[in-house]
Amino acid sequence: MKKKGIRVVGSAHMDMVARTSRFPRPGETILGSSFGLFPGGKGANQAVCCAKLGGEVYFLGKMGNDLFRDKLVSAMKRDGVRTDGLLVDETSPTGIASITIDRGGENQIVVISGSNMNLTPAAITRKRSLFAKAAILLAQLEIPLQTVERAFQLAKERGILTLLNPAPGRRLPTSLLKMVDVLTPNRTELRQIAGMPPSGEEDIARGEHTLLARGVGKIVVTLGARGCLLVTSDGRRLFPAYRVKVVDTTAAGDAFSGALACALARGERIEDAIPFANAAGALSVTRMGAQTSMPTRLEVENFLRHSGAPSP
Ligand code: ADP
Repeated sequence: MKKKGIRVVGSAHMDMVARTSRFPRPGETILGSSFGLFPGGKGANQAVCCAKLGGEVYFLGKMGNDLFRDKLVSAMKRDGVRTDGLLVDETSPTGIASITIDRGGENQIVVISGSNMNLTPAAITRKRSLFAKAAILLAQLEIPLQTVERAFQLAKERGILTLLNPAPGRRLPTSLLKMVDVLTPNRTELRQIAGMPPSGEEDIARGEHTLLARGVGKIVVTLGARGCLLVTSDGRRLFPAYRVKVVDTTAAGDAFSGALACALARGERIEDAIPFANAAGALSVTRMGAQTSMPTRLEVENFLRHSGAPSP
């Protein structure tokens, strides 16, 4: 039987979302317009994205023994994510993210990791039987780096394709980069991983070269409303974004990476998987929230059928 399962090793948070007309300045208090609780965390978001898109997904993560865990687990299960790989932390609370969204849909986020940072390499080793029927492993950087490395080692030993969404950005050891088949940074993350200064458009290509030289297989640099750039040893190719009306950009990167993993797990070539991921990212920014904004496979397919060619 052909392997097609997706394993997501990562974080789960409760997103606490406030909407305001503009961001407060340091020291300033402003009155916002609304507040809501939304299941989030890059790992859980990407797992939900894959499941809604029809993938067979197991989430490996750690949550506190509290009310937020109950809500997060039931949300994940409702969307079709298998939670057999979930561990309970008796010492730290479930992670949260405090998110402010302004009138333009731009966001500012503070994450308190809680239980997510107690997901150990040993815990992943104990859950290794879940890797048996996997085609792809997807991870992010909201859990300890050693845990990501351990998961990638287990994946490599089993011939599983690895996708790392390196968010939030930080320097990464070559030992990890060598095990990454597909890396999906945005521009800021690319610079951080490559150890470059935070701005200067012309430097991006230098960062890409650095990462390929350090062993990354392929890089897909996400460019927000401009789409994304596929970078391999053969060169660079731009895949333009689809034009949509932006409501909330939270989790666009999660929708993109989840959808890319999903399409790759189905056996698609990366050139075919990227337009699917661009469409999922575009649809996600037309809706509020993180997991609530993830489209279904039918929605993405209808969108692709009706939207025509993306705008260059
Ligand atoms: P992140 O949220 O990680 O910073 P990006 O903002 O680059 O990620 O968005 C990820 C992907 O989502 C983009 O590559 C694109 O496919 C899609 N996307 C994001 N913003 C828009 C937008 N305004 N219009 C259309 N697609 C978008």
